[in-house]
Amino acid sequence: MGAAVASSHRNARAEDRGISFARFLGQQGFWPLARTTVTTLQINVGKLCNMACHHCHVDAGPKRTEVMPKSVAERAVGILERSPSVRVVDLTGGAPELNPNFRWLVTEARKLGRRVVDRCNLTVLFEAGMADMPEFLAANTVHVVASLPCYQAENVEKQRGRGAFEKSIEALKRLNRFGYGRPDSGLELDLVYNPVGASLPPPQAELEARYRTELSRQFGIQFNRLLTITNMPIARFAHFLERTGKLEAYMSLLVNHFNPRTVPELMCRSLVSVSWDGRLFDCDFNQMLDIPMGAGTRTIWEVDSLDPFAGTRVAVGEHCFGCTAGAGSSCAGALTEERSTPGQQIATGQVAAGSGRRVFSRGGR
Ligand code: SF4
Ligand code: SF4
Repeated sequence: MGAAVASSHRNARAEDRGISFARFLGQQGFWPLARTTVTTLQINVGKLCNMACHHCHVDAGPKRTEVMPKSVAERAVGILERSPSVRVVDLTGGAPELNPNFRWLVTEARKLGRRVVDRCNLTVLFEAGMADMPEFLAANTVHVVASLPCYQAENVEKQRGRGAFEKSIEALKRLNRFGYGRPDSGLELDLVYNPVGASLPPPQAELEARYRTELSRQFGIQFNRLLTITNMPIARFAHFLERTGKLEAYMSLLVNHFNPRTVPELMCRSLVSVSWDGRLFDCDFNQMLDIPMGAGTRTIWEVDSLDPFAGTRVAVGEHCFGCTAGAGSSCAGALTEERSTPGQQIATGQVAAGSGRRVFSRGGR
C-alpha cells in the first residue's frame, strides 16, 4: 500500500512536470513528439545487479528480486519475430547477464538475424557462472556496451564502489583477448562515460581521444567508441541530488542547456522498451518512472508486433530535459556534436549559465 502511494505520487509529479517539457517542446515547434520507425527493442531483464552504483537510474542492486521470467522473454522474442522493422535488441538491466534467460534471449535474437547489444557493467564478468561469458558474447557477435565512468580509479570507485576499477580493467583486458575492440574483429566494444557529479558530460569526441590514449598507455586496452551519457534526474541520482541540495540547480542546468538539434535524434523516436514483467514504455527512463506509453499500450500481451508503433506519440516528463541538454544523451551516447560551453557544471548556490531564464520549478511547471 505504502509503495503504491509512493508510486502514484511520483507519477503525479512526473505528469505535472511532463506538461512543462511538452510545453517547452511546443514553444520550440517540436510538439507532439512522435516516433518514426521502431528500430530498437530494448529489453530490461530486471533490477538484479552485482553492483549498486550511486548514479543508477534503475535502483538496481544485489538484493533486487525483479527478474524477467521465461514466459515474458518468450513473448518478447515472438513480438520481435513479427517486427521486421526492429534491427537491434538492446539488453539492459540491472546486470542483464545475471538473468537466467540472458543466453537464451541472445541466441534467439541472433537466430532472427537481429543485432544484439549487451549493456555490461564489466565487474559482472567475475561473478559465479560468468567465466565463459566473454566467449559466449564473442561467439554470438554481441555488441558490448560497457560502463567505465573514468580512466582513473578514484573517479570510478566514487561512483561504483571499492574495487570496481580494477575489476573493470581486468574485464576489458579479457574482452580484448577475445577480439573485442580490436580492429577488423567485428566484435564491437563501446565504453560508456557518465559524469561523476552534477554536471553535463564533456564533448564526446575529445573525451574519447583522452580515454583511448590513457587506456592504451596505462593498460594496453582497446575499444571502438566512447559514448557520453548524461545522468538522468531520477531514482538514485535524483535522491543524491536531493540529499545534497542540488536537484533544482541540476534541473536548471539541463533546462538552460536545452538544444533543439537533439530533438529529432531522441532515442524514444525509434525505440520501444519492455520491462522485466512485460510492460511497455517509450524508453527505459519512463519505465523507471512508470510513465505509460504515449500510444496507450500497457503490455506485450496487447500487441503482436512493434511495427504499428511507427508514428505514435511519446510520453514525456521533466526528466526528458536530461536527453536534450548540451550535446544530448541517449543509450547510444551524445546526439549531436556540440562543444562544451561555460556553465556546464553547477557552481555552488548558482543556477547554471545559459538563457538566464529560470524555467524549472520543483513540482510545478
Ligand atoms: S548503474 Fe548499472 S552496474 Fe550500477 S547498479 Fe545500476 S544497473 Fe548495476
Ligand atoms: S527520457 Fe529521453 S528518451 Fe525517454 S521519453 Fe524522454 S526524451 Fe525520450
